[in-house]
Amino acid sequence: MSGEKQAKDRAALKHIEELAAKLVAGERRALSRAITLAESGRDDHQIEAQALLQKAAEGGRQALRIGLSGTPGVGKSTFIEAFGMFLTGLGLKVAVLAVDPSSTRSGGSILGDKTRMDRLSRDPNAFIRPSPSQSHLGGVARRTRAVVALCEAAGFDVVLIETVGVGQSETMVAEMSDIFTLLLAPAGGDELQGVKRGIMEIADLILVNKADGDLKPQAIRTTADYAGALRLLRKRAQDPEGFPKAQPVSALEEQGLAQVWDDISHLTSWRKDHGHWDRRRAAQAVHWFEEEVRTGLLARLQTDPAIRAEMQALSEQVHKGSATPDVAALKILAQIKAR
Ligand code: GDP
Repeated sequence: MSGEKQAKDRAALKHIEELAAKLVAGERRALSRAITLAESGRDDHQIEAQALLQKAAEGGRQALRIGLSGTPGVGKSTFIEAFGMFLTGLGLKVAVLAVDPSSTRSGGSILGDKTRMDRLSRDPNAFIRPSPSQSHLGGVARRTRAVVALCEAAGFDVVLIETVGVGQSETMVAEMSDIFTLLLAPAGGDELQGVKRGIMEIADLILVNKADGDLKPQAIRTTADYAGALRLLRKRAQDPEGFPKAQPVSALEEQGLAQVWDDISHLTSWRKDHGHWDRRRAAQAVHWFEEEVRTGLLARLQTDPAIRAEMQALSEQVHKGSATPDVAALKILAQIKAR
């Protein structure tokens, strides 16, 4: 290694150590800079970000990570602002992150607009970060996890991760949350709003929002319907009696927020006492490890010129019927293995 390169590496390391120290001391600007680094697409930034994350994690701080999902218009930003203010009112530091699949497709975004949470964004104990724009969801997942870890290291007590209820973003957010909540609107009649069974199975709390004014009776009925549906689900080892749970809230009138926090706190301490908290985080770490390997392999298929050419050639053969899909796939896999 040349002397010049060594000096450069030393300077970079010193820079990272200083940034980590400022981050851990809770300096807001250091957090923003660290996040910018973690969200950067540049390889050298990614290496620095990983070093920073490792350094920052040494303190072993853990925040409570709460995932929140719901369709557009259900009241997510109203709820997060009210709940966030409630939490900062208790003296807690709250970070709000958004995972927005629409921003990966169109560059536009449904979530993460700071002005949506005007009051909360001006609260010195709150930090709001919009969704990173990335070309694919895998990239968004990695960067969001990094931002969660940076917020934890910076001493936030609660990290709220918001997403819209479409596609894989919900399961992705659930896989990085300790508690997963689903926000719903009051349903008309006795329909269960076409909520997929899968999402009910990963929810810890179902909150039926807009339980105020004329909508209140409907919200109460909808809550009872969901409570009934939740009781039919198989009991999960990670749940105390009475969970998963459905309850009405009004984000607009700030009703039911204390109850939501009581439930989350009860669930958290029960899981910690019974070892489920650590087990869930450990299982999530393994999930993300496997996911990163998968994503990395797929990226290699797309970026390695030799493999890309072979894929193209084999794809034509499969199209013409001169090779079967399975044999063609085996050829590609053998080529990856040979490298
Ligand atoms: P998001 O798209 O899920 O973030 O939803 P918003 O928070 O932007 O809310 C959508 C609309 O629902 C807005 O007009 C809000 O004022 C309204 N809204 C949100 N929460 C409540 C609530 O608790 N009660 C009532 N009545 N309206 C609400």
